[in-house]
Amino acid sequence: MSKREFQTEVSQLLQLIIHSLYSHPEIFLRELISNSSDALDKLRHVTLTEDAYKSLPFNPRIDLELDEEKQTLTIADTGIGMNEEDLVSHLGTIARSGTKNFLAQLSGDAKRDSNLIGQFGVGFYSVFMVADRVEVVSRKAGEEQAWRWISDGTAGFEIEPAERPIAGTTVLIHFNEEGKQYSNSWRLQEIVKKYSNHIAFPIFLTYDKSEWNETEKKSIKSRATEQVNAASALWRRPKSELKDEDYKELYKSITGEWEDPLFWFHTRAEGNLEYTTLFYVPAKAPMDLYQAEYKGGVKLYVKRIFIMDDSRELLPQYLRFVRGIIDSEDLPLNVSRELLQQNRVLASIRTASVKKILSELKNVAANQPEQYLKFITEFNRPLKEGLYGDFANRETLLELIRFKSTKVDGLTSLADVKARMKDGQKSIYYLTGGAESLLRTSPLLEIYKKKEIEVLILDDDIDEIVFSGIEKYGETDLKAVNKAATSDDLKDEAEPDKSASLQPLLDKLKATLGDRVKDVRASVRLADSPSCIVSDEEEPSMQMQQMLRAMGQANIPAPKPTLEINPDHEIVKKLLARADDAVSADAAWLLLDQALLMEGVPLQDPATFVQRLNRILNLSI
Ligand code: ADP
Ligand code: MG
Repeated sequence: MSKREFQTEVSQLLQLIIHSLYSHPEIFLRELISNSSDALDKLRHVTLTEDAYKSLPFNPRIDLELDEEKQTLTIADTGIGMNEEDLVSHLGTIARSGTKNFLAQLSGDAKRDSNLIGQFGVGFYSVFMVADRVEVVSRKAGEEQAWRWISDGTAGFEIEPAERPIAGTTVLIHFNEEGKQYSNSWRLQEIVKKYSNHIAFPIFLTYDKSEWNETEKKSIKSRATEQVNAASALWRRPKSELKDEDYKELYKSITGEWEDPLFWFHTRAEGNLEYTTLFYVPAKAPMDLYQAEYKGGVKLYVKRIFIMDDSRELLPQYLRFVRGIIDSEDLPLNVSRELLQQNRVLASIRTASVKKILSELKNVAANQPEQYLKFITEFNRPLKEGLYGDFANRETLLELIRFKSTKVDGLTSLADVKARMKDGQKSIYYLTGGAESLLRTSPLLEIYKKKEIEVLILDDDIDEIVFSGIEKYGETDLKAVNKAATSDDLKDEAEPDKSASLQPLLDKLKATLGDRVKDVRASVRLADSPSCIVSDEEEPSMQMQQMLRAMGQANIPAPKPTLEINPDHEIVKKLLARADDAVSADAAWLLLDQALLMEGVPLQDPATFVQRLNRILNLSI
């Protein structure tokens, strides 16, 4: 027998699980059953796809055995099993990045929520909420030797050779005080039905059954074995037979979530291709949705048989928050990930599924606005990612996405923005680059406010990248207000062109600011501020350039903005009238620096800025 210590992270995790995550100890059973179900899936998969395993028997079942006297429960499966090495690495260390994330989340202020256990798949260790000793006996498919892994969930574990007649895994739990409540067959049946009813494999419970015997007039105990779960592919039943509760329960059993889903779309396609899809939208965006390790997505089944968890092929990346099932009649059972990528059947299922999900979302938006608001609060951003990659569905995505705007509180759709456009207004305008508060006070918005033209406030970090590629919504142009070219909507026919009279000042400013600016122009977009900066049409904005540099793209040349000045502003008028001197030079620089500051661009040389400011202050005090 060899003694080993847990990896430090495992010990930490065990401490957390045992001391802070007590709220639902019953999930230990869900976790162990789902491990057994995974192990059965894996065995089926290799027997279908790998020659070496083709001849292995596959008799899938999960057996729970309760011994009320000894206060023990075993969970046995006929799955892929583990050898010595597997036991050490899977049950003695934390190999999964998801679990590390989990630990990081918990050590912060994050809510200590047992929901996280399922979400991050720290599954197996949850058994120590209810056990003071656990023995795992496992034999890997295709191998003769079995191994026993024993631990009390404190410092480490022991491993020794063992025997097991067939491949698979048995987990023996010695209940602790907390766990004793589960030494009860009713309770166990209830928990299995609650979480694991739709596991594809039969789950049997063996226990002491008491039955009333009429002749002897007393209840008699006998050992009984009964199947506890439905083991039915619920998604293959007609919608009319299914209740909301069925859908919710299935969702929880396939995702390990606690919360009900927000809504779901269940479709059966017949004809050319036959398949069933059941898609769920979760109530909340998972915490790791934007991390590379995020695991979610949908499961692929072929003729009710589980094939694999989301590979990127099933739905596009931006819909990764959608959970659920695709079950096809037409794919081969031994389809591999590599084959999937080129599979035509899957490609058409995927295209149709995306269309279906988006059109159902449109229905929700039209018919259940409150539900849609909940949805968009969580998932607006992934939809925006779709704009970037999914050209075919761009128009639909533009209709689904919601925006902040200068005209309304909360969020608004482009359709509504369009409906609010002023008579003769040609384009829809938006401002990107920075936090909402910064954008809302940008001098660039002044003229739009004055002319009562609505401007969308795009404050998501991906907005500029995404929207700079989108020129139109339907027939209407979409334009960024921080780009140099001014739109027809801003030109005032009645007003004479003021740039001619301003020319001497423009020349002076250009001479003073030198190559810090690309150009200096008279502005038509300012009302209250003396100056602002804009970027060229094809250039990333100042903020974007800043971000690119912060991301290490140091070779990007220092941004050169175009400075626009307001011909009607008092300061500008005075400068125009003033002869060249030190004061007008200071003023020139301050006009540029304040415009940069208003756009959230940090100054290259704050010390000089302050000196100039103080010189000017000194004159006026
Ligand atoms: P997860 O299931 O999310 O991977 P767990 O902590 O539940 O995390 O399990 C850790 C690993 O231990 C599994 O990934 C699997 O490799 C292995 N394992 C656990 N239970 C079994 C089992 N019954 N049969 C085979 N392998 C198992
Ligand atoms: Mg697990």
